[in-house]
Amino acid sequence: MTLNELNEKITSILIEAEIKEAEIESYYIIEAVLNISRAMYFLKKNDVVPEDDIVKCMEIAEARKEHIPLQYLLGKQEFMGLEFAVTSHVLIPRQDTELLVEAVLKMLKPGMKVLDMCTGSGCIAISIAKLSKEVEVTAVDVSKEALAVARKNGEENQVAVRWIESDLFEQVADTYDVIISNPPYIKSEVIETLMPEVRDHEPRLALDGTADGLYFYRKIAKEAGAHLVKGGRLCLEIGYDQGEEVTELLRENGFLEVTIAKDLCGLDRNVYGVFG
Ligand code: GLN
Repeated sequence: MTLNELNEKITSILIEAEIKEAEIESYYIIEAVLNISRAMYFLKKNDVVPEDDIVKCMEIAEARKEHIPLQYLLGKQEFMGLEFAVTSHVLIPRQDTELLVEAVLKMLKPGMKVLDMCTGSGCIAISIAKLSKEVEVTAVDVSKEALAVARKNGEENQVAVRWIESDLFEQVADTYDVIISNPPYIKSEVIETLMPEVRDHEPRLALDGTADGLYFYRKIAKEAGAHLVKGGRLCLEIGYDQGEEVTELLRENGFLEVTIAKDLCGLDRNVYGVFG
């Protein structure tokens, strides 16, 4: 089978399984398994593909038919220009979250201490450690399995992050200049309506914000102040319809200058507050 024929075969399997971006995903599978670039694909498209590479591509295509996210099958996702390993124990880093990281990077000064609460794959903590100079980064997650992935990502990206296994602030003793978090924030009943990739395969623990979606914001807003210096900042990612409620939670808990930032689609995406 030639590379071109393999591409057509994978694409048709994915189209039949109603995978939306079948053609692009087929390229991703081929690029990852054969370790070639898109340009190389076009140069080699009439070459015969080694049998074991065909088998590997087919295994991935078959698994993708079950709507397992491609990132879990390929084991990686890019975020802030860095590569992160992902397993089914961690949320796949989202491009939307880059907005939060970019905003925090602008706030940081050398010597500052940053805490990433609910770190998952470690994408926020690691990109901050990598892309800002001379800040001290600590990251927390309740899941041992997620922390193992995050730790590995820290090593691969060659950054020093302090990892703490903790249910929110339970095991956190220090105070920080900035606390950043993209916690689980989807209402439990809404999870059932999400695409199968998310609903059936991403960790429920990383998605579910309980009945009203606000469980983690309530806890974080209440407890963050005890772990922030005066004038320290709390920076949160939120769901598009949570701006007002989260703003209120921050105000009730002693945060000043609470502002909402919108994403590129014009939807409320982040809430920032200064601890007074
Ligand atoms: N902080 C991680 C991320 O943004 C994980 C978030 C989560 O598990 N809810 O991807």
